[in-house]
Amino acid sequence: MSIIEELMNFLDQSPTNFHAQAQARAHLEDAGFQELKKSEAWELKEGGAYYVSNQEGALLAFRLGSLKEEDFHFRLVASHGDSPTFKIKPSSEMKDKEGYVRLNTEVYGGPILSTWFDRPLSIAGQVWVKEGEGMASHLVKFDRDLLTIPSLAIHMNREVNEGYKFNPQKDTLPLLAMGQEGEEGFLEGLLAQELGVDQEDILDFDLFLYNRDKASRLGLRGDFISSGRLDNLSMGFLSLKALIDSPAGPGTCGVILYDHEEVGSESRVGAGGPFIRDSLERIASFAQGQAAFYRGMDRSFMISADLTHGLHPNYRDKADPTNAPVLNGGPAIKQAASKSYASDAYSASFFRLLCQEAGVPVQSFSNRSDIRGGSTIGPISLGQLDIAMVDIGNPTLAMHSARELVGAQDQEALYKVFLHFYGRKTIG
Ligand code: ZN
Repeated sequence: MSIIEELMNFLDQSPTNFHAQAQARAHLEDAGFQELKKSEAWELKEGGAYYVSNQEGALLAFRLGSLKEEDFHFRLVASHGDSPTFKIKPSSEMKDKEGYVRLNTEVYGGPILSTWFDRPLSIAGQVWVKEGEGMASHLVKFDRDLLTIPSLAIHMNREVNEGYKFNPQKDTLPLLAMGQEGEEGFLEGLLAQELGVDQEDILDFDLFLYNRDKASRLGLRGDFISSGRLDNLSMGFLSLKALIDSPAGPGTCGVILYDHEEVGSESRVGAGGPFIRDSLERIASFAQGQAAFYRGMDRSFMISADLTHGLHPNYRDKADPTNAPVLNGGPAIKQAASKSYASDAYSASFFRLLCQEAGVPVQSFSNRSDIRGGSTIGPISLGQLDIAMVDIGNPTLAMHSARELVGAQDQEALYKVFLHFYGRKTIG
């Protein structure tokens, strides 16, 4: 299977961060990575491959390099597994007297709301269930078309094509069923049936809507990949594959997959939490010398990988005049005077060098000086980790649409850069 086919499979099988994390763990297990539990003692060996998960919502996978105090360091690629969507609220059922059954949802992150209308949608996430004396979590993914958010007819909303403002408490509630009189417990019933548990044993859940359309390769020459959740599962997948494919080297090479980037990263499983720093310190405790962590961090490097805006041919005026990356032109280094990206001239230079050595073209991205732009996990991670860091990403169009678009060649190109980063003799 080609990298692109593998990526499209990963996208299709990961409707939520929980599923992306589970997919990542399965790929790591297949490749012989050994699971470490936070609550148990660790036994680490040079050249060994391991992963540790935080509440099944964030992940650090790594291959241990040299443990000599003078060599010890980290080479990390970080991304996030969550995507903009709708989250199902507790007590979500809304049954009208006419029988319409809708679910009460709230917006998760910043989706382009109009792209979610009139599509086959379904539900996926994590459910907690009472089991014996305790409780257990279940991954759930309804593999069928289950709901939709119907548009209002244009005859009743003549301004819809002139820039209509959608109200997330009114316009975007998904329709699940036409209920009968006296019927209730639609969602709980559905969950109980799917999980094979009693309805009363369901305690709570984190459930999201997902777009049922599968990833596709399109364009005259297969130039593009169109899919939901490319931001940021494409970066997560490519880094994971590069780590799995890279042999043991001098550095301790790792992949980080965070949650909650789309809502600001300030959570236990987000880039603002201490999980990664704690784990890196714990790994460093196996290296020689008491100061191995601090000495090692000074030699370490982190690539924060998150999709970046590509130049949109229909909206050239929205792009920076001199730093506007194009699809299939290679990964782009993101820089901002505001420090909304972690890159500086040192880290950008090293990434540029990596691309040159890997034979991959590299581009640069800046926001227009009159557009604020977004941020990413890079600057937030810097609050937890004192490490040289660059923010990069492959260019995308339609970021935060229910279907985003990336260049197919860029995926293979960035995989090569990650592989070279892990295997290179030295850092910087
Ligand atoms: Zn992102």
